[in-house]
Amino acid sequence: MSWKTIDDLALAGKTVLTRVDINVPMDGDVVTDTTRIDKIRPTVEDIIVRGGKVVLLAHFGRPKGKVVPEMSLRHVLPALEKSLGRKVDFVERPSRSVIDSLPFDSVVLVENTRFTPMEEANDPEMARFLASLGDVFCNDAFSAAHRAHASTEGIAHLLPSFAGRLMEEELRALEAALGNPQRPVVAVVGGAKVSTKLELLGNLVSKVDHLVIGGGMANTFLVAKGIDVGKSLAERDMAPIALDILTKAKAAGCTIHLPVDVVVAAAFKAGAENKVAAPNACPPDQMILDAGPATVAALTKVFESCKTLIWNGPLGAFEIAPFDAATSNAARVAAALTKAGKLVSVAGGGDTVSALNHAGVAADFTFISTAGGAFLEWMEGKVLPGVAALHG
Ligand code: AMP
Repeated sequence: MSWKTIDDLALAGKTVLTRVDINVPMDGDVVTDTTRIDKIRPTVEDIIVRGGKVVLLAHFGRPKGKVVPEMSLRHVLPALEKSLGRKVDFVERPSRSVIDSLPFDSVVLVENTRFTPMEEANDPEMARFLASLGDVFCNDAFSAAHRAHASTEGIAHLLPSFAGRLMEEELRALEAALGNPQRPVVAVVGGAKVSTKLELLGNLVSKVDHLVIGGGMANTFLVAKGIDVGKSLAERDMAPIALDILTKAKAAGCTIHLPVDVVVAAAFKAGAENKVAAPNACPPDQMILDAGPATVAALTKVFESCKTLIWNGPLGAFEIAPFDAATSNAARVAAALTKAGKLVSVAGGGDTVSALNHAGVAADFTFISTAGGAFLEWMEGKVLPGVAALHG
């Protein structure tokens, strides 16, 4: 890969504009999950160790180009200082002279980049202004890399640019899973709807050896095969598209795995009375809420036969027990194979991280991407503008 890293540039005495994702959830003034803040620490430390001055550029919430005081990055300052273990100087109106006046061993945080509409418009004037604040550009916000904004893309064309540690880690993991993976590769795609993951399925069938389809999406495929799924969540109008995907997969030599047994219940609620049934035996007044144990056993065999796994989306309604069983059990199998050094496992996107956390195995996967939209777009085979701008 042709992008540069922190190790490739001389940073001593340089002001390093560092795009990060510290868009953390808040409850009042309290950051409720500091994961994103904690993850930028290696980049910040490595730049400081090399004698660079870190100037953080970030967005916070969706202020839609206006100054919204509740979305000031000032609110994350205490959590940021705590996580980094150093003083952070907050700059509301940045200028080169203000930034130059601050000491090298402090970290500088610039106010929310989205307080002007020029950011999301990728306005060249804004990119030029941001670039004028420093000497080099470090992009450590993979999760914002699917957006071509002034602070993620525009600026990268104006300064010597490189990937931060977190970006580097994401790119390496994703490259190992889909770019240049060890084969065979299995992809697990679950979740509610086919319609939201069409491009993803279309891209995967041409890249992976096995494609496991689970969750509500699998119901749509069952319908396409002429199976009555009762009251199950299914997008009946998507049946022709599901058939298209099956045809495309066959042509590409990708084996599709649908549930071989399912768990059905009369109500979508925790602890609802349920039973295991054949996929074509869902009673008309009931719904499929999970894959069954025979499906998990079949997936175990597939996972064991593969060297690489990429996972997005749950196999059932994992938020409500006992319909979390297939997702959790399959995730445990993947985690155990990973721990044994037999599988490279990469997971990400939306509910996947919470499903794997719920199964208690997130730490055992090779890599878990916390970048929702960017991870999905990358799985769809799209070029991420923020990453593309780092090349060459
Ligand atoms: P997504 O955001 O597309 O990844 O979908 C995740 C959601 O799909 C979760 O909230 C699951 O509860 C839901 N889901 C998965 N399988 C089913 C199913 N068989 N019936 C209804 N909802 C499901």
